[in-house]
Amino acid sequence: MPELRLSAETGAAPTRVQRVYVNRNLRLDHIDAVGFDMDYTLAIYNQPEMDRLSIESTIHKLIERGYPEGLRTMPYRTDFAIRGLLIDKKLGNVLKMDRYRYVKKAYHGTRELSREERRALYHTQRIRVGTPRYHWVDTLYALSEVCVFAAAIDFLEKGGGDVDYATLFTDVRSSIDLAHQDGSILNTVMSDLPRFVRRDPLLGATLHKLRSAGKRLFVLTNSRAAYTETMMTYLVGDALPEYPSWRNYFDVIITAAGKPRFFTEDAALLEVGEDGATTAHVATQLERGRVYSGGNIVEFERLFETGGDRILYVGDHIYGDVLRAKKDSAWRTAMIVQEMAEELAAHELCVDDLERLSTLEHLRDTMYDALRSRQRRFKELTKQLEELEALQTSATSVGEEAAGQGLEAPTRGELEVARLREKRAIGRVRLRLRSVDTEVETIEDSVDRAFHAFWGSLFKSGPEVSIFGDQVEDYACLYTERVSNLLVYSPMHYFRSPRDRMPHEL
Ligand SMILES: [Mg+2]
Repeated sequence: MPELRLSAETGAAPTRVQRVYVNRNLRLDHIDAVGFDMDYTLAIYNQPEMDRLSIESTIHKLIERGYPEGLRTMPYRTDFAIRGLLIDKKLGNVLKMDRYRYVKKAYHGTRELSREERRALYHTQRIRVGTPRYHWVDTLYALSEVCVFAAAIDFLEKGGGDVDYATLFTDVRSSIDLAHQDGSILNTVMSDLPRFVRRDPLLGATLHKLRSAGKRLFVLTNSRAAYTETMMTYLVGDALPEYPSWRNYFDVIITAAGKPRFFTEDAALLEVGEDGATTAHVATQLERGRVYSGGNIVEFERLFETGGDRILYVGDHIYGDVLRAKKDSAWRTAMIVQEMAEELAAHELCVDDLERLSTLEHLRDTMYDALRSRQRRFKELTKQLEELEALQTSATSVGEEAAGQGLEAPTRGELEVARLREKRAIGRVRLRLRSVDTEVETIEDSVDRAFHAFWGSLFKSGPEVSIFGDQVEDYACLYTERVSNLLVYSPMHYFRSPRDRMPHEL
């Protein structure tokens, strides 16, 4: 049960977990309508339970496909994966990259690749992310398939066989899709919602507050009508007496929306019957309390009589909800990142370490500068010595008169002493650099472990922003841990980005 938010009632400043973070300024009083995705947005799942269920269903389907029975008892970690990973289907590796596509961590199965292995495989040529060799892991749904893929590689390789990683990955993907389609996963979830879903006691009040401020609300989910009905009833069906049904909170309810295609294609918007089945009736108007299926953004905005940047859409899926909404429409976006609580807690634990890391990085830059200038000096002295030697050789052969000309110039002995001094200094700087590098590595390791046993921080990759963090920054106007965090802000709030200054203005 989530903790109750006292600040909602007392008006105290929100805690870091309750805060809504801002990438692009957004004035809530300029927003007419707020739309919500359902899964992992309004409905926050209990991630370890969901992962366990998906992993077991997927393994079951793999065995039905002819994979060895032993998969059923193989060890696996439900927490192996995070969002923002890249799967290399050709080599059976899982990678985490920073925003410059530099691979900072990689695993083969669940064995971490050494720095040398990473360098040989991924640092000599640019990774072509968009090609079929690679697969993005961008939803919380998809974490379980990474767990199965990695565990199965460990298991099958231990058995001594050759593993065709690409085929294995395709089989894992189709198995999990099948488990979703045939109800193995959804029926189990629906039959035991308290086990799989974390009900937020403040969700109803949050929706109510937005409605009271004159916002129109809508649901736009890819889930089917029957599942949406069960889930939403569980979430807010009896949250507030003023709302006898979950449907009363919303002006429009669209299920089976087929995002991201909803934003780019022109599927028809159909009415859903009271039995939850989609009818053949094309909707000509949007009725409150009715459920629709499919549709597209153009038709939706026409019937809803608002659109563009008057709409704020809240979702959890960087590609299906946030990126497409941003690229193919002018909708403003808010992203739900349920990992925020753990991320912020780890960040707090590591404040001193992170401070030390930035001191060390600064020190390292200074030392590299010193090293380069000493190396330059060493080269100069070497050149001078060579020139002097050449001069002396020619002086000896031409005659003794040239010897007197070099009185003001350093002697060979002086040059040699200076050169030796530089050489020793270079050695000392190199030694100190190595010890700084070792300390950086040790601290980075312990910071990473505080964030996540396998991958470190979701938003960062070493000192850089991770590719996931980069996408959140690029496409989400706002991001926050859960929908009910909006409750602590006024519905007229001006969300202001700290990033409205350029580096030269700081
Ligand atoms: Mg979702």
